[in-house]
Amino acid sequence: MKIGVLALQGDFAEHIRMLKQLDVETVEVRLPNQLTGLDGLILPGGESTTIGKLCVDYGLLQPLQQFGQGHAMWGTCAGAILLSRDASRSQPLLGLMDIRVARNAFGRQVDSFEADLDIEPLKQATNTRAPYHAFFIRAPIIEAVEGTAQVLATLPDGRIVAAGQGKLLATSFHPELTADTRFHEYFLSLIDS
Ligand code: GLN
Repeated sequence: MKIGVLALQGDFAEHIRMLKQLDVETVEVRLPNQLTGLDGLILPGGESTTIGKLCVDYGLLQPLQQFGQGHAMWGTCAGAILLSRDASRSQPLLGLMDIRVARNAFGRQVDSFEADLDIEPLKQATNTRAPYHAFFIRAPIIEAVEGTAQVLATLPDGRIVAAGQGKLLATSFHPELTADTRFHEYFLSLIDS
């Protein structure tokens, strides 16, 4: 299995580290032809406006949209914003998932927080019971989940922080910044689904 990580800006190195721990072959993607032969792609956390603008500059927007129509794709935080159809403001988006997000919904960097989440599909895919400990850093909220998209995880107050749609996955939080590889395993399970 070969997984690409969009490597224009943000914490792509952390995703690559996680994938290597799972013995997965990885490719840093900066140009359209680097998508060839990949089984899936991760869009990392970072700054969604910057990543979106760089996608436009590198001619990646359309190739990524095409890739996401037939392959597994997972966006973490800024990556989740890129996957959305609507970020409640004007910026380049892939528009692949029927979700509406609100950026920086929990406040500033100092308002970063951690939370234990109960994510049934993740537990099933990894055959584990422990809650998932998630890190939120200037995170977006998923305000609306429409079409065939589905809610995957909420905070205790009901706010949506993860959604799935076929082989597409969006998380407000950062599994790449933890020692818990279960979310990456869950993503890999979508490829064969
Ligand atoms: N606040 C960033 C944005 O709106 C996302 C932050 C992150 O990826 N940790 O793009």
